[in-house]
Formats: sequence, structure tokens, C-alpha cells
Amino acid sequence: MFAIAARRMGYRVHTLSPDYDTPTGQVADREIQAAYDDLDAVRDFARGVDVVTFEFENVSADATEAAATHAPVRPAGSVLHTTQNRLREKGFLAGVGALVAPFAPVRSLAEMDAALAALGTPAVLKTAGWGYDGKGQVKITDPRETAAAWQEIGGQEAILEAFVDFDREVSVVAARGLDGSFAHFGVIENRHHRHILDVSIAPAAVPPGVEREAVAIARGILEGLDVVGVLCVEMFLTQDGRLLVNELAPRPHNSGHLTFDACVTSQFEQQLRAICGLPLGSTELLRPAAMANLLGDLWTDGVPDWAAACAFPDVKLHLYGKATARPGRKMGHLTALAGTREEAVEKVTAAREALTGSLSFTPPAPAIRR
Ligand code: AMP
Repeated sequence: MFAIAARRMGYRVHTLSPDYDTPTGQVADREIQAAYDDLDAVRDFARGVDVVTFEFENVSADATEAAATHAPVRPAGSVLHTTQNRLREKGFLAGVGALVAPFAPVRSLAEMDAALAALGTPAVLKTAGWGYDGKGQVKITDPRETAAAWQEIGGQEAILEAFVDFDREVSVVAARGLDGSFAHFGVIENRHHRHILDVSIAPAAVPPGVEREAVAIARGILEGLDVVGVLCVEMFLTQDGRLLVNELAPRPHNSGHLTFDACVTSQFEQQLRAICGLPLGSTELLRPAAMANLLGDLWTDGVPDWAAACAFPDVKLHLYGKATARPGRKMGHLTALAGTREEAVEKVTAAREALTGSLSFTPPAPAIRR
């Protein structure tokens, strides 16, 4: 989606990843297949471009440094370093005064027992590095589960977090330009299923005070990290109205995918503008919108019925071009635009149900000028 935004504005795109025929490779001018830690390949790649960015944050500091010797890397490797480890990330968040769920570092079974005694159950054990979409995460509801949980995450450096009984989950996708300018897409509401983002809704139904605070937290984080580019702050809104930061993603984020269809400037174009030193674009939301992820599970009984989803005239289909569908793998998404957020959610969920024939009603006739 970033490459599509870049091509539309006349940029040429090169991509490097360990895979071939990747979603970006299908749109890019040049696709280089190399491991992220193949530093010679990374240097060669960086020699051929004017600026380097990434859409996958688990790239090593060595690789970002190798790239930075030949082209600016935006956001910088230091941003990745902070956000790719939950302990470093929490330390940074404390420094900018952002609240987080109570947590304790866990590096041994003994620390695990102590952490659980301090935090109580339920709690979530998360690997410090390499976790996303609930991978490397175990929920603990009974103190007798500690050894099994520790074993399940492979006995590696982790954090134990108190389970937050949140009212809802929200995110702020924001951008910072090369000149320090700041823009945000407002507060987006996120609903998860099995720890994976399922539906995002813009705007989130939160009081103006919560929106102001969420944006102020995001701004403090982008400025504190000296980010150039887009960064997403995922937060829990607690029952008593507090915002706790759950996680940072230093790139365009799944909860911002709806901006592609619903905003004057998408998060991908904003990323492009920021890293190329252009002024940031308007983030105005044109209509209330909802996004539903399409996971590989939808392919269980064969290829989904794309025409059935396209029968909803206000629903946009995005497929990423991934070759194989696996359960839990994000293959694409649908975005619905509507008069209200509730209507947008209803439409996008109905369109997704129609993909597998589980829809129980006929979509309304389209308002199309022929
Ligand atoms: P994460 O990979 O940390 O973003 O977690 C994925 C999802 O798991 C979150 O969006 C929440 O839905 C859930 N989750 C993670 N940590 C907690 C927590 N401490 N309390 C409640 N739910 C959580």
C-alpha cells in the first residue's frame, strides 16, 4: 500500500525482503530477495535509493546502520531499537510520562513466580522481542500455570503484564515530518479477535477530552523518539477513563488501513511525504469508516466469493497478493464508508460474511449513476 501511494506520486520503489513475489515486490520497480542480516545486500540496496524506510520493524540495528551509511533511514534505526523490545519500549514510555499496564520483567521461572505474586491473575506473559498479533503471548488465569506459560514462550526474556479490563481499545496513527511538523488521524477504535485486530472504526466514540489526551500522548511519543514517518500508538481505554499505552508500531499500521479510502491523505502517502521531506497532507476523515481484516481462515472452504463483497457499493476490497492463505494470516481487508460509524461497521461485517456465504440478508441496491 505504501508502494502504491509512492508510485501514484511518481516515485520509483525498490524493495528488499527474504521472500520473492512479495506484496511490495508486485508493485515495486525492483525486488531484491535477501535476508535482512545480509549486510552486503542491504548496503547494495541502500546505494541504489535516495531514502530507506521499512514496513516490518524487526530489522536488526546492524542492518539499519549498514543502510544508513548510504542513504537516510527514516525513521532511524534507534526508533526500531526502542520499539522492538517491550522492556525498552516500556522504559521509554515511562520517560515521556505515558501510563502503561502494571508489569514486571521476567527472565527466569523464579522472576516469573515473583511477578505473578505481585501482579495477580489474570495476567499476560509476553516475549520481550519478536511478538505481534498475539504471537509469543500467553494469558495466565491460575498461578499453577506459570511453569507451562514460561515453557510455552520458550523461556526467553519476557514481561508479565496485568490483564487490563478495558472499556475499549483505541489507537492514534500519527506522523512527524522532517521539519518536526506533526499530524494525526484522530482516535480509531479497534476490536480484536484471538489477539488479532479484527475491525477498526473511525472516528472512535470517545469523549473529546479522551481524544485530546490520546493525541497528546501520541505527540509526546513521536517527539520523544524523534520519529520521521508514521507511528501508531495502541492504547487501552480503561473503565475509569484512563489511557494506558499497550504497544508502539513505528510504521503505517493495520488500524490506519481505513485511511486509504476514508481520508484526504492516507497513512501510506503520509509516510511517503514524511520520509521524502515533503509537507504532511491533510488527515481529514471524509466519511465515517470501518475496516474488517480478511484472515487466511476465510479460505478454509475455497476461494472467498469476492463478487458478493463487491455487491456492497460502499465497500472497498483490498487484497495484498500473498501467495498462500494460512489461518491467522492477514491476506487483505475491506473498508466500508457510511453516514455513521455504526452503519459502517454493519456494512463491513455484512460484506465480510457475504464472502463465505454466511450472510443472512441481501445487500441494499447500489446508488450508482449509470
Ligand atoms: P499486543 O501484541 O501486545 O498488541 O496484544 C494483542 C492484543 O491482545 C491486544 O490488542 C489486546 O486485545 C490483548 N492484550 C494484550 N495485552 C493485554 C493486557 N495486558 N490486558 C488485556 N488485553 C491484552
